[in-house]
Amino acid sequence: MLPDDVIVFERGWLSANNVLLIGSGPATLIDSGYCSHSFQTLSLVRNALGQRPLERLVNTHLHSDHCGGNSLLQSSFPGLETFIPPGHAAEVLRWDEVALTYAPTGQSCPQFLFDRTLVPGSEQELGGMNWEVHAAPGHDPHSVVLFSPQKGILISGDALWENGFGVVFPELEGIHAFDAVGDTLDLIECLAPKVIIPGHGPVFTNLSGSLGIARKRLEGFINSPAKHARYAAKVLLKFKLLDVQEISRHALHAWATDVTYLGILYGRYGSEQSLREWLDGLIAEMLGAGSLRFDGKQLRNS
Ligand SMILES: [Zn+2]
Repeated sequence: MLPDDVIVFERGWLSANNVLLIGSGPATLIDSGYCSHSFQTLSLVRNALGQRPLERLVNTHLHSDHCGGNSLLQSSFPGLETFIPPGHAAEVLRWDEVALTYAPTGQSCPQFLFDRTLVPGSEQELGGMNWEVHAAPGHDPHSVVLFSPQKGILISGDALWENGFGVVFPELEGIHAFDAVGDTLDLIECLAPKVIIPGHGPVFTNLSGSLGIARKRLEGFINSPAKHARYAAKVLLKFKLLDVQEISRHALHAWATDVTYLGILYGRYGSEQSLREWLDGLIAEMLGAGSLRFDGKQLRNS
């Protein structure tokens, strides 16, 4: 499905998948996972490269689960050149944790530096292949996707997964972005990749099937923004559970009280209940769906 010099590390959902390009030229890693998995990311890269150094690091976007390993990789490989999408370059320079979404999501990301930006419309030679850089707003306004026309490979980040796409974060702040999600899906359809390496989940080839699922999901969110809001709130809670694995209900409530995005969603969609009741409703749905377990004492990831 993929050439031998394109290696995908499919990770659990806390960390985005990593793509290692080991063809001619500098060895390149695309996306680096969540910070709590950064040593695992480093050992995956070292095991695959042997004595060869990692020379380039590229981020499709700057969510914590895609660039949380940047800092460790930068300190482990002197001379590593880091490429980020240009939209958040100023915020990385001044390390603005609010604009970079780490603070409002209640997530962590160690500070990193960058050397160059991946300007949409440009081409980059990475791992001995030419990659077109395309803007892919929606899930994140500054995301890019990378497309190799010669090999028909798309690195789609969180713009398209086999069974959907990531939370449309701008919508949580009241910024319309569902249209942008649709435009990005149209762009991907035009590129017509043969193989898609998503930010999460398995590599896949059924583009039309995945676009059908994504468009249906998008239509559901457009028809009911409250449904998207509830989904987003559960994703934020699940992310926390993926990170800590187990937590008391009381501690989860306390954490959630400080998470700006949950506060906004509660204010807009849940305020006829207390925050506690609203959170308990979400937790009950997650327990019902099997994405959480309760062992009588602690809530656990499952
Ligand atoms: Zn993302």
